[in-house]
Amino acid sequence: MKRILITGGAGFIGSHLCERLLNEGNDVICLDNFFTGSKRNIVHLIDNKYFELVRHDIIDPFKAEVDEIYNLACPASPVHYQINPIKTVKTSVMGAINMLGLAKRLKVKILQASTSEVYGDPELHPQTEDYRGNVNCIGPRACYDEGKRLAETLFTSYNRQNGVKIKIIRIFNTYGPRMNPHDGRVVSNFIVQALTNSDITVYGDGCQTRSFQYVDDLICAMEKMMITDDCFTGPVNIGNPEEVSVKELAEKIIDFTGSKSKIIYKPLPADDPVRRRPDISLAKEKLSWQPKVGIHEGLKKTIAYFEELLKSENI
Ligand code: NAD
Ligand code: UDP
Repeated sequence: MKRILITGGAGFIGSHLCERLLNEGNDVICLDNFFTGSKRNIVHLIDNKYFELVRHDIIDPFKAEVDEIYNLACPASPVHYQINPIKTVKTSVMGAINMLGLAKRLKVKILQASTSEVYGDPELHPQTEDYRGNVNCIGPRACYDEGKRLAETLFTSYNRQNGVKIKIIRIFNTYGPRMNPHDGRVVSNFIVQALTNSDITVYGDGCQTRSFQYVDDLICAMEKMMITDDCFTGPVNIGNPEEVSVKELAEKIIDFTGSKSKIIYKPLPADDPVRRRPDISLAKEKLSWQPKVGIHEGLKKTIAYFEELLKSENI
């Protein structure tokens, strides 16, 4: 049994990771400040005696004796990370320094949840790990993009300078049950709008693309990455290369929910990336991993989750 620290454990992805690692017989410490996370995501784990919940902000140092660290704490949706951009930078940067310090003292592996946003609005398509990106360092998304880029710099520096065992994954758009219904991300927005027969808000002309990965595939990749040889640090892209336009996504969700919603068009936010699709050759080679859940199956499971949530009037 390992004792594993998961920062951001009460968030969408973190709660799935807590659940998986507990089910595999580990002792899990879930650390969260509940900025975007929710007790609803982890309430079913509270009675497990191997689960520990700690309310803490990773911009402050944290001490514990653990065998592994997954660093996920950071608001991830553009709406939330732009509410307090300075705090977003602090979370990525000071949070990384604190968690890397802990990993250094304990001599344990630490995995960083980085993002496809390090590529910004990419000129190279699909994106490979050696692409250095096209990020506007003074734009509204910079607090997140540059924060995550600097976190990668910190991770690689602690590895080179102090021999800390690091793992960096660059996560592409991920969706599934337990997404925060109020965080403005496209999948949750469209599903809630469709289920309530409200207008579906497509930003811009809807021709911009994303490649959506179901959360179970990501969790599987995270675990595989953690157990790779110490000399493989990443970064490695983790995503589903099935690319769809935002308009196609809206049409699929209307179709799957049988909704009466109409699509309406709203202004495109500044610096919204035009295209995004991962090249996952490296993940295939190093992790023997590729996504298994297609968009139809994944959306159906996610829609079922939001149906239940709306019925419980808990959103
Ligand atoms: P989320 O917002 O649901 O989860 C983030 C969690 O971190 C929340 O529980 C939040 O309360 C917590 N948190 C935020 N700031 C904190 C702080 N200062 N101290 C302690 N806890 C803090 O988002 P998510 O989608 O689950 O994302 C998890 C991680 O994966 C993030 O680091 C995000 O950048 C990364 N990621 C997610 C996606 C995606 O599509 N979901 C894509 C790329 C990268
Ligand atoms: N988007 C949209 N309508 C919404 C929410 C988002 O058209 O109600 C668009 C957004 O402009 C972007 C894409 O969907 O082009 C994905 O947005 P999201 O915030 O989910 O993720 P990110 O932009 O970080 O990839």
